[in-house]
Amino acid sequence: MTAQLIDGVALSKQVRADVARRAAASTARGVKPGLAVVLVGDNPASAVYVRNKVKACEEVGFHSVLEKYEATMTEAELLARVDALNKDPAIHGILVQLPLPKHIDDHKVIEAISPAKDVDGFHVSSAGALMVGEAGFKACTPYGCMKMLEAIGMADLRGKHAVVIGRSNIVGKPMALMLLAANATVTICHSGTADLRAMTRQADVVVAAVGKRNVLTADMVKPGAVVIDVGMNRNDEGKLCGDVDFDGVKEVAGWITPVPGGVGPMTITMLLVNTMESAERA
Ligand code: NAP
Repeated sequence: MTAQLIDGVALSKQVRADVARRAAASTARGVKPGLAVVLVGDNPASAVYVRNKVKACEEVGFHSVLEKYEATMTEAELLARVDALNKDPAIHGILVQLPLPKHIDDHKVIEAISPAKDVDGFHVSSAGALMVGEAGFKACTPYGCMKMLEAIGMADLRGKHAVVIGRSNIVGKPMALMLLAANATVTICHSGTADLRAMTRQADVVVAAVGKRNVLTADMVKPGAVVIDVGMNRNDEGKLCGDVDFDGVKEVAGWITPVPGGVGPMTITMLLVNTMESAERA
């Protein structure tokens, strides 16, 4: 079998076109959606992510603000900036790019963001809302994965078994809760899982969010399964690759996301969706 590709670039284009229409309508009503992106320090990967996010905002007609600060910025100074953005009516979403320099407490900064503007979905209130099934901003990466499942007609996963590999607060755990909300039976695996292959072999949907190459190989996948690769790693040639052995797994899976061009663009797209929703609530 050769798996069908879930094209994150093409799906992003569709979703972003819809966001652009909503942004134009909102702007015409006097509310231009606004996203503030805050970058502290000079992490080169963060600088690329932030640039891509600001560019995506411009393309859909949002107002975007990029605030760049030296790595020497103090925690108190950053908290003061977050407070000012919380109060700024032109800003509907605030994203503080992680990781922050070591002398700043990530958690404290994220918790300082107003839950009404927490478009990354990392605030404890957002995580809690997801947990209890209330309205709140969903973490962008798992939200993007759910959109990909929806795009292939798998919005409702009743009767399906989903296996998530990874249990981070920003990907694995919210992913598992979103799959559960879509009626899947969910298993969460991690570094303490005794027999990962035995778990993934049973799965109708596998989401790999580990950060290690070849965590999922063809022998670990049930024929016809949907495989979503969140991982972002570098191969021996320095090229971007995921957690999944793409060439092997695509011969077994029914659907597969590529890296690059899969979950990555969807993450930014869902940031736009969350910001749009925030502006519509304003
Ligand atoms: P993380 O916080 O490092 O979590 C990795 C998880 O993988 C942990 O739960 C860990 O288990 C588990 N793990 C490690 N080795 C394992 C193994 N051999 N078998 C099973 N599980 C194992 O990483 P993250 O922030 O969730 O990110 C995961 C990956 O996704 C990274 O490559 C990251 O760059 C990528 N990512 C991509 C996007 C995107 O937009 N495409 C967004 C976010 C993250 P323990 O909990 O037991 O340590």
